[in-house]
Amino acid sequence: MKSIHCVKSGSLRDPDPAKRGRVATLDIPEFPLGEEDVKIKVAYCSICGSDPHNIEGIFGNVPPFGLGHEVSGVIVELGAKATKKGLKVGDRVAGNFLRFCGTCYYCRNGQEQFCEHANDSNRPGFSEFLVWHESQVFKLPDSVTLKQGCLLEPVSVIVRFMDKLKPRIGQRVLVSGGGPIGLLAIQALKMMGATCLTLSEPIKERRELALSFGADFVINPAAQDLQVEAMQITKGLGYDAILEVSGVPRAAEALPAITAKGGTLCYSAMFPRDYNMPLNLYQYCYANELTITGTYISPYAFPRAAELLPRMNLEPFTNTVFSIDDSEAAFDAQVSGKFVKILVQCSDS
Ligand SMILES: [Zn+2]
Ligand SMILES: [Zn+2]
Repeated sequence: MKSIHCVKSGSLRDPDPAKRGRVATLDIPEFPLGEEDVKIKVAYCSICGSDPHNIEGIFGNVPPFGLGHEVSGVIVELGAKATKKGLKVGDRVAGNFLRFCGTCYYCRNGQEQFCEHANDSNRPGFSEFLVWHESQVFKLPDSVTLKQGCLLEPVSVIVRFMDKLKPRIGQRVLVSGGGPIGLLAIQALKMMGATCLTLSEPIKERRELALSFGADFVINPAAQDLQVEAMQITKGLGYDAILEVSGVPRAAEALPAITAKGGTLCYSAMFPRDYNMPLNLYQYCYANELTITGTYISPYAFPRAAELLPRMNLEPFTNTVFSIDDSEAAFDAQVSGKFVKILVQCSDS
């Protein structure tokens, strides 16, 4: 079966072709179906911001390795014991690329995100077929298309953000970074009753999308002074809740100063591994009592994400589709930054 793999590690943007990372569509054997597994004919897999990071080598994977985890598809086969969820052949599904063990200390302590045996190996999402454990698979609501369905995983990330940020109705909220995750977060925060809802993002088209999703204000941090704008919007109080999803150190450092006293600041991006942010603990943790937190993956979030999918405007995220045969073009388009989200059609299901 066809499957998109990283065949050479390196930045996809490296100007030196000898150092540049590379992807290719390979022909690989299908995965065996275990007793508790579900075989899915993959319809779409969307490119995640973390996929190019994976190709760069930040997770330490050694090429060739399979890519992709934001998947939708149709069940074509079930193992004999994959019966706990009532899944059937023909069901339209999406799911969690991670399988948690359910048995280790963390899984039994309500912290499956730290599972000591989490398994994501050999299940590349950009493939014609995928085999997942039943626990990873969730049925899509009838009104959700397969194109929209591959956004279940990104929406699960948004659910997790809300669990950590805990925005209260009427609070002033800012999102730093307007990639697909930031834009979906704007939609969720609108639903949760955020006020002064603001996106800080340098790309104009993304700011415009945020306004169409109900943001009250947008800031261009490349042209405007974030602190001045933020204090004007919040009448000098700062934001009660701030979500940082750009992963840009300069953006991250500016946020404590625009967080309201007693506010919450959630750093949820993949920052450079060796980056240490300076933070004035006297000012922000002692005097201003900020809650500073973060998120890793999205534990316990998929059932709620599936319920949310039909209520979100996913149309702007599903317009750019490449074939699984055009893997290089798809990833070139991803790193160009010109498209808010890119889907790869993996089969004709
Ligand atoms: Zn993702
Ligand atoms: Zn576990």
